[in-house]
Amino acid sequence: MDESERYNRQSIIPDWDQSKLNSAKVLILGIGATGSYVATNLALTGVGELILVDFDTIEESNLNRQLLFRNQDIGKNKALVAGERLQELNPQIKISVHTKNMESLPRKYTRGLTLIASCLDNFPGRRWANSLALRERVPMVSGGMYAFLGNVQTVLPYETPCFECQPLISQDKLSQACTPLGEARKDMAEEKEEVKLPSISPISSIIGGLMTQEIVKLLISVGRPINNYLFYDGLHNAFTELELSRNPNCPICGENYKLKEAEVIAFKGEKVSEFKNRIAYAFGMADPMITLRGKILSPDDTIQCKSGDKILVLDERLAAPIALKIKLKKVED
Ligand SMILES: [Zn+2]
Repeated sequence: MDESERYNRQSIIPDWDQSKLNSAKVLILGIGATGSYVATNLALTGVGELILVDFDTIEESNLNRQLLFRNQDIGKNKALVAGERLQELNPQIKISVHTKNMESLPRKYTRGLTLIASCLDNFPGRRWANSLALRERVPMVSGGMYAFLGNVQTVLPYETPCFECQPLISQDKLSQACTPLGEARKDMAEEKEEVKLPSISPISSIIGGLMTQEIVKLLISVGRPINNYLFYDGLHNAFTELELSRNPNCPICGENYKLKEAEVIAFKGEKVSEFKNRIAYAFGMADPMITLRGKILSPDDTIQCKSGDKILVLDERLAAPIALKIKLKKVED
């Protein structure tokens, strides 16, 4: 098939640049409700390379809004099934899938990335996506939904506010699940259980559609991107655009943010795994990686250092490592 024929109806739009779309590499995190629509739209539009990431399996309760899946797909991996369907929709694009946790995404998928679409339904995941976008210095378009409500946010690293800059969301709210601004949340105790968020297909398609529109605009440099948080109330047909400001003290993108040189205690002869657990607990990290004099410490090793040694700690939730100073103590009897 002639490629120019396939994209003919979009290529006739003034300022449309199909070659930019054909050479773009977009990472889609989460192939659920909004993810299905974003991936479908991007595949149809001819984005050259899509990387689909989802470790989740398809359940019957997904079928009311996740249009890429069918009854016979129940129990299969979402990214895998989506990849096959999308390839049928457009055999001219390249599709890769990653069926494990996004935190284990191989470097080859983030190298040369053009943009990140965050279609996740939880805040810890979105924060990770945010720090990846900042680290790779690529734009991120993120979407969320709740019943008849939805939101789209665009982050242009070091240019527009990132997720962690938002003065409108407190830290405890940030740690909760997907909530549009202004929406009342349940308390944290309830959140710990598996939360079933109310979701409908119209909002998935509207938010997925808006996200894709933003992505396409950014990829071919036309129009004005969302500045930078768009809230949609489907019950009252109201769009509200909120202009947030960057926070110079933001721990991810702020110029003024500096971690005060913190001291950590290590016990002589202590196992690295125990030391790691303490650091994870103290700094709210998931699985910190510690380097000492350029070497990554293995969990089975014992601590071999002296007071004053500096360690670098990297965690999936950090865009850059933090430095800590060791204070060595003897284990007291
Ligand atoms: Zn920030």
